[in-house]
Amino acid sequence: MTLPTVAIGALGGTIASTSKDGTEVVPTLSAAALAAAVPGLEETATVRAETLASLPSPSLDEPTVVRTLAWAQAAVDAGARGVVVTQGTDTLEESAYLLDLFWERPEPLVVTGAMRSPQAAGADGPANLLTAVRCALASDSRERGVLVAFDDELHQARWVAKTDSMSTSAFRSAVFGPIGRCVEGEVVYGVPPGRVPALRLAPGQEARDPRVPLVATYLGDDGYVLDAIRAEDVDGVVIAGFGAGHVSARMAEAVGRLARQVPVVFASRTGSGPTGRAMYGYPGSEIDLLARGAVGAGWLSPVKARLLLWALALRGPLARADVAAEFELRGRP
Ligand code: ASP
Repeated sequence: MTLPTVAIGALGGTIASTSKDGTEVVPTLSAAALAAAVPGLEETATVRAETLASLPSPSLDEPTVVRTLAWAQAAVDAGARGVVVTQGTDTLEESAYLLDLFWERPEPLVVTGAMRSPQAAGADGPANLLTAVRCALASDSRERGVLVAFDDELHQARWVAKTDSMSTSAFRSAVFGPIGRCVEGEVVYGVPPGRVPALRLAPGQEARDPRVPLVATYLGDDGYVLDAIRAEDVDGVVIAGFGAGHVSARMAEAVGRLARQVPVVFASRTGSGPTGRAMYGYPGSEIDLLARGAVGAGWLSPVKARLLLWALALRGPLARADVAAEFELRGRP
């Protein structure tokens, strides 16, 4: 019997981390070693494993993710039915979303990792990798963009977030929930396939390296960080605002000054729910920030909003109207 081919690309993280002396762990294992440690994988798929990087995920960056995207596209062109990327969990919600923004193929691209390292009791890496492979091979996973497989659940890249620093069920999709589960080896979805169209990159555009900082606001913020950023060469700025995307009256002035120079997007720092559009009218409210030229992130978290703005900047200089239209399209379910 010919088994379907799955491509597994490893970037590092806890799932690939081992220890020499039984204490601290660092990424060491290859993609082939990760695949070899999964019971039953050889009866499920023909594996093409490739080690793309061996990094803790806080040290991954956008160019590495863009290179991973090119590798995944080449794997599909070479005949893989689906693709799995393994990486550290700390920034998994970001790489998965950045991949999703540009993943144009119908084939599934599934990102996973682990909270317990391979030598720990009850290591979750092999189970998560097997779930990710099953998800990548399932025909019902097609046309869904990039998915995150973790703890038997399947999440859409644009909503999923790491919401616990230690638990093996560290990933949640606030408000909308996971879209599927892997049960007794079967991949089951609660919603039909469908996705927002991917962003198109013209040849050479991936070589740009835009600067899009994320600024979190806080009690008593007078906007001095935003004013300092105004002197820098940035392509856009995202603010993690209070509640539905609010800032202080003094910070609102700084938002207005900055929005005259570059696109400014405000998101909610709450971890759940959208930015407002039409409720509050005080200085620093959503209505005030919109009037000052800022754009609401909608349902996207601050880190996902930053990635969307970065991805748009990769294609060239940003016009406010285009930014607003893209956030309108991609910031809602
Ligand atoms: N704690 C992280 C992990 O789960 C480390 C990292 O993100 O690389 O993989």
